[in-house]
Amino acid sequence: MSDNWGESTKLVRGGLNRSQHGETAEALYLTSGFCYDSAEIAQARFNGDDEGFVYGRYGNPTVEMFEERLRLLEGAEACYGTASGMAAVWGALSSHLKAGDHIVAAKALFGSCYQVITNIFPRFGVDFTLVDGTDLAAWQAAVKPNTKAFFLETPSNPTLELIDIQAVADIAHNANSLLVVDNVFATPVLQKPMEMGADIVVYSGTKHIDGQGRVLGGAILSSEKFKEDQLKPMLRHTGPSLSPFNAWVMLKGLETLKLRVNAQSQAALEIATALESHPEISKVLYPALPSHPQNDLYKKQMSGGGTLLAFEVKGGKQSAFDLMRNLTVIDISNNLGDSKSLITHPASTTHRAVDEEARAEMGITESTLRLSVGLEDVEDLIADLNGEML
Ligand SMILES: *Cc1c(COP(=O)(O)O)cnc(C)c1O
Repeated sequence: MSDNWGESTKLVRGGLNRSQHGETAEALYLTSGFCYDSAEIAQARFNGDDEGFVYGRYGNPTVEMFEERLRLLEGAEACYGTASGMAAVWGALSSHLKAGDHIVAAKALFGSCYQVITNIFPRFGVDFTLVDGTDLAAWQAAVKPNTKAFFLETPSNPTLELIDIQAVADIAHNANSLLVVDNVFATPVLQKPMEMGADIVVYSGTKHIDGQGRVLGGAILSSEKFKEDQLKPMLRHTGPSLSPFNAWVMLKGLETLKLRVNAQSQAALEIATALESHPEISKVLYPALPSHPQNDLYKKQMSGGGTLLAFEVKGGKQSAFDLMRNLTVIDISNNLGDSKSLITHPASTTHRAVDEEARAEMGITESTLRLSVGLEDVEDLIADLNGEML
């Protein structure tokens, strides 16, 4: 029945599992273990003949409520909560890949995703090819007989490049491969990768799902079969479990996710539009702007431009740093998806480990700034970026 609810109803009530006390808010089951009424029940639980919890690393009622709520929003068959977004990325890929396999990924990746694919997987015998995600022929050309997974983020961090999910899904499926999409930047509110053919969607709940900068968490959305056959055997034994407390915070975050993301996305569009006519800004990158090189693809696969934008300040690094120094409302932070607006200089922070040539290929210059738009008054944010809030 809850599968037929509207999105907002799913976000407020999905997965709700009240205790005998009838609490209005979801209960926080802060426990690592569970007790059984008899040895027979314990045996049945371990046999899988009796539904119920056995140990915090295997499952928890609060975590399960979070998983069910996000599952409903995504329209996926199954959801697995994880300790962080990177635990979700690593968990999804490592439970599928083995030594001798090959992965194809877009080169514009979140820093830790880049490390996982280019440094960590190769140590376990998983080879990789990085491609320009916007070049569909490059995805196709990268396919090898042992290719088992495709991985991409769209919009990308920090230059907000878009990748055609449907087209890459088709290439992946023709190659008997899975497509894994990191949907953090778009959020489940503004983009539904599974409707466009993605097999797995991963989230950092740390970002918009919590949305108020409190906890780390993540999730893997997949088929029921992938969860049962791949994720559970890997993740239950290797331990990247989502804390019940963090699950509870994110569960409550989901209730307001749609309101927050839509408001932040609308504000981001207003800021991007204002910055386009700013005399000291040479370039603004935001998917919903008509000037974005992939604005047509934006209209096809997203229902809003998202809460992040990037822009280039005339005069290079010094001018970018000067702009940041003059801010009094917007904070300097590499985090994103928060109700507080946050700005970062990717070349010296999030992408400092990426060598200069690769950075240039991703479109990151010394004058690029990335802004995560929060919930403040948009007039204040625009005035702050104009240096008028000093
Ligand atoms: C933050 C982020 C991650 C990692 O999430 P954590 O919760 O920090 O582990 C992965 N991908 C993208 C696009 C992110 O923004």
